[in-house]
Amino acid sequence: MDIPRIFNITESAHRIHNPITPEKLATLGAALRLETGARVLDLGSGSGEMLCTWARDHGIVGTGIDMSRLFTEQARRRAVELDVVDRVEFIHGDAAGHVSAGKVDVAACVGASWIGGGIAGTIELLARSLRAGGILLIGEPFWRRLPPTEEIARGCLANAISDFSTLPELLASFGRLGYDVVEMVLADQDGWDRYEAAKWLTMRRWLDANPDDELASEVRARLTSEPGRHATFTREYLGWGVFALMAR
Ligand code: SAH
Repeated sequence: MDIPRIFNITESAHRIHNPITPEKLATLGAALRLETGARVLDLGSGSGEMLCTWARDHGIVGTGIDMSRLFTEQARRRAVELDVVDRVEFIHGDAAGHVSAGKVDVAACVGASWIGGGIAGTIELLARSLRAGGILLIGEPFWRRLPPTEEIARGCLANAISDFSTLPELLASFGRLGYDVVEMVLADQDGWDRYEAAKWLTMRRWLDANPDDELASEVRARLTSEPGRHATFTREYLGWGVFALMAR
């Protein structure tokens, strides 16, 4: 079981697989006022940066589940590096339908809401692991500027304008699902550069090392087109944030 190989190639050097920076991840951890021993569940935990740094900085204990074998191995290595192996655990597997054995204080899905079939389904899934009064974290894109055409939405790798909301609409949608938005940390364009531009050097180095790989032509095409696509579309039109929610 694994995610499509192209992601394991293009994001192999990422510690954070989203436009949030290490600084903003730290801001989020502080904003949530996490207490020592707080239990955190992270569905789609990637390379484990959120759980590992929050274990180091706030003494949380956490479990992450991710379908990428590579990212899960990287998460385990990061836990060793930050000396938090006794506090965090990373499971390689499908997080769809995953409910923790005991209730957690924080249940998160940061940039992987397809795991629950969309925002509403992911909130419902996370809520099944959450203690009463706990905090749910969801990381999602929104339209920073509403695309004037469907073509621009597709340039942002959305299927349609209707894939995402504006920020006020997204916040209102959490309310309609019965949740208070109690905190948020938003990415900015520099954060998007860290996420997107970091793929370019990774792709270039991978191409130099793997010229005969079956994905070489796809990676070559992406490396050629991605800087322009990012600057024209994603960087201008797409916002992203992590939203902290509590049930009303
Ligand atoms: N939350 C992490 C990773 C976000 S990228 C971070 O912010 O860095 C999305 C992640 O979801 C990837 O690591 C991918 O491997 C993982 N993923 C995709 N489908 C999944 C599934 N069905 N179950 C678990 N993880 C999944």
